[in-house]
Amino acid sequence: MTDRLYYHDSFLYDFDAHIVASFAREGRHALVLDRTAFYPTSGGQIFDTGKFLLPDQREARVEEVADEEDGRILHFVSPEHAAWFAPGMAVRGAVDAGRRLDHIQQHTGQHVLSAAFIRLFDMPTVSFHMGDEICTIDLETNSLSAAQFQQAERLANSVVAEDRGVAIRFVPLEEARQLGLRKLPPRQTGDLRLIDIRDFDLCACGGTHVRATGQIGCILVRKTEKVKQGMRVEFVCGLRAVATARQDFTALTEAASLLSAHMHELPQQIRKLQDESKAAGKAQHKLLEELAEYQAERMLAGAVGSPRVVTASFPERDAVFIKLLAQKLTAGKNDVVALLAAGDGQLTMVFAQSPGMKSNMGQTLKDAMAQLGGRGGGSAELAQGGMPAGAANPDRIAMLLKEIAAKLQQP
Ligand SMILES: [Zn+2]
Repeated sequence: MTDRLYYHDSFLYDFDAHIVASFAREGRHALVLDRTAFYPTSGGQIFDTGKFLLPDQREARVEEVADEEDGRILHFVSPEHAAWFAPGMAVRGAVDAGRRLDHIQQHTGQHVLSAAFIRLFDMPTVSFHMGDEICTIDLETNSLSAAQFQQAERLANSVVAEDRGVAIRFVPLEEARQLGLRKLPPRQTGDLRLIDIRDFDLCACGGTHVRATGQIGCILVRKTEKVKQGMRVEFVCGLRAVATARQDFTALTEAASLLSAHMHELPQQIRKLQDESKAAGKAQHKLLEELAEYQAERMLAGAVGSPRVVTASFPERDAVFIKLLAQKLTAGKNDVVALLAAGDGQLTMVFAQSPGMKSNMGQTLKDAMAQLGGRGGGSAELAQGGMPAGAANPDRIAMLLKEIAAKLQQP
């Protein structure tokens, strides 16, 4: 088993050790040491990174650290450096201090926040996740109001401001059971490692923690959402909270400047824009209907033969318009067939006929698409198809529509 130096001091970043084993594992190279300050991913906290320094000044990056079932800790280095290491060798380890401090702030912040939810609302934390950007806890509860999470956030931050001591204690399992821990680990052999936030929270944990709550800096709840096992609370602590608040502020400032508004007025301004956009959409649809009506009258005025077959291409219009137009051309008549195309590049075709006529538009469109390399279908009265950009040129489309029209008008 690897001696875990971080159990006793979360702020130990540099240490000396000896290599116990050195071997390849799944395309990477793993090192086991007799003792380490590197934290492996476990209990929701993510692994440390850093480097190994050799006596001759060479350096190898520690890319990931993982826990083994048997209690050993694996340090992964690049396979290129595999030959540098051998059992018995002395190395110096250096943990990336910035990343560790960030993890310490998030992780201890989680202890405080989880304890606040228990104290105020008796909502136990059932899982914890620390990501590279955000952290979450899942609370066992059916609902959590904004007022509730803000109250928990306030209590947690007051505990931060009080700078309460955080002590590490090792006690036998039996003794721990009598102490009323917030959380007991699922499996345990030997003594339990207890993290004691003075007069606020006591729980068993193998992670890294601050010496006093003031080092957490602050705890910021960002959002909550319903999940299968309860309510998920997203939060960030310490310098990460400052960084995310800065990011939010920058985005809000830019949005406010685009709307020439104060950022506190953004929701109101966005609602106004949504209303305007909805009204503009409605007005545009009404205009398109009028245009289609007018266009249909013009096309029918020049139509001859029986049935009256009209063909047209509209490179600057879309599927919505030609469907509207097809409807205006065929509805309320008994002898009109409309063969329409729209789009420039990516092309749409709509074939339609007046109710009760004998041709089948679905089949006619399928045949046309087979020739053009597109796809589509529909009913006997209305069919729609499309083809990818560049599949057919405008001249070929116009020619094809005329050919189909001629066929439909044959006696
Ligand atoms: Zn912990």
